[in-house]
Amino acid sequence: MTEVAILREDRDGPAPVRVRVPAKINLHLGVGDRRPDGFHDLTTVYQAVSLYDEVIAEPAGHWSAEVTGEGAGVLPVDERNLAVRAALLLANRAGVPAAVRLRLHKRIPLAGGLAGGSADAAGTLLACARLWELDLTRDELVEIAADLGSDVPFCLLGSVALGTGHGERVEPVDAVGQYHWVVAVADGELSTPAVYGEVDRLRDNGIGRYHDEVAPLLSVLAAGGDADRLGPLLHNDMAEAAVSLRPGLAEVLAAGASDGAVATLVSGSGPTVLYLARDEHHGHALAARLRLRGLARQIHYVTGPVAGAVVC
Ligand code: ATP
Repeated sequence: MTEVAILREDRDGPAPVRVRVPAKINLHLGVGDRRPDGFHDLTTVYQAVSLYDEVIAEPAGHWSAEVTGEGAGVLPVDERNLAVRAALLLANRAGVPAAVRLRLHKRIPLAGGLAGGSADAAGTLLACARLWELDLTRDELVEIAADLGSDVPFCLLGSVALGTGHGERVEPVDAVGQYHWVVAVADGELSTPAVYGEVDRLRDNGIGRYHDEVAPLLSVLAAGGDADRLGPLLHNDMAEAAVSLRPGLAEVLAAGASDGAVATLVSGSGPTVLYLARDEHHGHALAARLRLRGLARQIHYVTGPVAGAVVC
């Protein structure tokens, strides 16, 4: 085959699809008591923030995956990877071969309570659906996403949403304000099941309860309330358990308060800590002060809400 013929063949084949997908934070995370089936009901208000992973789906004869950035060399690239599971599930549901080379460029820290794995799964669903030219609506993708994990549907939708069930039932929420956050990624990882286990242990000892009241938070979001109004309404039922497993987090939380954050919050199951800033300038200043303390392995300034998974 001549070079010209090869070029033409490349041009005629499907082009790689690049999807950008955001991390999530939980403005409210209410965790119910453990049910007899071992699950917990959740009432959560998600917000997508401007810290992104990128998923590139390239045409290939069979599936494969590779990871660069956060988790490179550590994350498995077989069926244990949530992105691979997403591609395999989608192919199976659509009745097409799982023929894709997945390249994950990760910036979202692993096991940090920011739903990095779920973000990759959501990005993969969108990228593969486009690559394989599947005729699926976003609602149909959201349904498949729910079978992959609690946070996956939200990572597809983005913006702000109320999550119920295990977090997988998502309803978009009216939200007009933009919020400024500093994300402090504390050292180490916290496994989400371990933090649920600690929530249960603390509850058995009478510590903590289910907070499922989100109406005041939803009305501040709908009104575009500023950080001073949002701050007191941020809440995480998993925070005590995360601090109990990782006592050093107390210092990271306290640092935000003494450096002038409007509010501090454990992100999801931790150990990432969020500091709410008043505006962009305050966010950068807060990030600089927190960096000097050296308490966290990464500090990011981010804004939210942002869109969910998008082809770019
Ligand atoms: P959540 O907030 O949803 O509990 P998290 O941010 O705490 O999630 P993730 O980064 O999503 O945690 O990863 C949790 C575990 O999932 C990791 O320790 C890893 O073993 C596994 N995992 C599988 N696939 C991925 C992926 N593509 N990216 C990150 N983690 C993955």
